[in-house]
Amino acid sequence: MARGGGSGFGLQDLSRIARGQGSYLYDESGRAYLDGSGGPAVFCIGHANAEVNAAIARQLDSIAYAYRYLFTSSALESLTEIVHRVSGRCFKDILYSADGSEAVESALKVALQHYAARGLMKKRRFIARRRSWHGNTLGALSVSGFEARRRAFEGSLLDVSFVSPANSYRMPQGCTEESLVSHLARELEETIERVGPDRIAAFIFEPIVGAAGGVVPAPPGYAAAIQAVCARHDVLVIADEVMCGAGRSGTWRALEHEGVVPDIMSVAKGLAGGYIPLGATLVSASVAEPIMSEHGAYMTGHTFSGHTAACAAGFAVQTIIERERLVERVRTTGASFQQALRESLSTFDEVGDVRGRGFFIGVELVKDRKTREPFAPERALSFDIGQRAFADGLICYPCSGNVDGRSGDTVILAPPYNASEAELEQICIKLTRAIGAALAVK
Ligand code: PMP
Repeated sequence: MARGGGSGFGLQDLSRIARGQGSYLYDESGRAYLDGSGGPAVFCIGHANAEVNAAIARQLDSIAYAYRYLFTSSALESLTEIVHRVSGRCFKDILYSADGSEAVESALKVALQHYAARGLMKKRRFIARRRSWHGNTLGALSVSGFEARRRAFEGSLLDVSFVSPANSYRMPQGCTEESLVSHLARELEETIERVGPDRIAAFIFEPIVGAAGGVVPAPPGYAAAIQAVCARHDVLVIADEVMCGAGRSGTWRALEHEGVVPDIMSVAKGLAGGYIPLGATLVSASVAEPIMSEHGAYMTGHTFSGHTAACAAGFAVQTIIERERLVERVRTTGASFQQALRESLSTFDEVGDVRGRGFFIGVELVKDRKTREPFAPERALSFDIGQRAFADGLICYPCSGNVDGRSGDTVILAPPYNASEAELEQICIKLTRAIGAALAVK
C-alpha cells in the first residue's frame, strides 16, 4: 500500500480505483480488495449500493443543493427525523456539516455560544484527553492529543488542558481496573478546579477512541463518572462519535451502551456511509435553550451545511441501516467476529490485545505481552501489516503512536455493517496472515 495520492500529500504509486461493490473495491488492473476497515471506518453499508445511488440521483435530477439558509428540503427534514429517531430522541437540534472536523468545530463553538448566551464570557477553555483525535481544523486539532499531527502547528493552537486517556490496557501508574474510573474522574475534577470551573466550557472525549488509540472503549462507568464531575462544575460534555457512532459499535450512539446522553455530540463517517461527505452536531435542549432565547440562531455553519444531495444520501443510508436492522446485526455479530479474531491471533505472542465493540475492533501489537512494551517506532510494524494486508487484498487501518505519541502499533478493523459471514471470515484469515508475515521479519 502506498502512502497516498499524487495531489498534495506527496504520495505516489497508489493503485487507481475503478469501482466498488458491497464489501469489495476493485482497482483498474482488476485486483479486488476486501474492505475490512471502510478506509477509516466510513463505509457502513458497503460500496455502490443501488438504493442509495438512486436516491442521490433523484435528488440531483430535481436539485443538487439549495442554500440551507434560504430553503429547507424534504431530504433535510427526512434525515433530521430519522437521526432524531435512531439517536433516541435525546437531542433538540441537529446542525449539519460536511465532515467530522467541521462537526467537532461546531460542537466546540456551540459550547462557547451557550456560555456567551448565559453571559459567562470567561468560560472559553476546553479540556480534552491525551491520545485522542478530533480532526484537522485548528479548533478540532487543538483539542486533539495526537503529537505527531499537532507538531507542525504548535504555537497557533488553542490553549487546552489535557487529561489521561481512559485505557484499561494502558492504565496510569498505580491504577487497577477497579480504581481506574475513580482515578480518571478525580483527575478531571482536579483539572477543572485547578484551571477554574468559571473558565471551562467543555470536556471533549471519544467514547471509543479511534485512530489515536487503536479502538479503545472507555471502561464501564467512565462516561457516567465524568458526566457527574462536569455537571457539578457546569462544564458541558461533548462526545465525539465521528468514528464510533452511527451504529459502528452496535448501538446507534456509542454512549447508549453506557446509558449516558452527552450535552453535545458529533457524528460523521457512518452518517452517509461515504456516499457524499456529511457530518452533524447534535445539541441537547438545555444547551440550545439559552442560545435560542438570547441569539435566536447558532453562530456556526458553512456554505454547504445541510447540502441537499448529502442529506438525501444520509437519509437513504440511515433508512437501510434501520430497515435491515444493521445496528443489531453489528451488536450480535460483532461479538462473535471479535472472538474469532482473538482465537485466530492467539498464536502470536505479539498480539497483546484484541478489543472493541460491534464492528469497531482494534488489535494491539506488543514486543512483550507481559510488560506490554511496544515495538520500536522505527520498525513501523502496523504500517508493515497494513501494506502486507493490502497486497493480499485486505484493507485494514494501521495506526501508530498509541503508547506515547511515537511508539505503539495497532490495526483497526471496521467492516461494513452488512459484510457477510464469509467476508468477515476472510478478513480474519487475511489479517492473521498479514500479521504473521510482518512478525516473521526479524
Ligand atoms: N473525530 C474523530 C473521532 C475522528 O476519528 C475523525 C477522523 N478520523 C475526526 C473527528 C475528523 O473527521 P474528518 O476527518 O471527517 O474531518
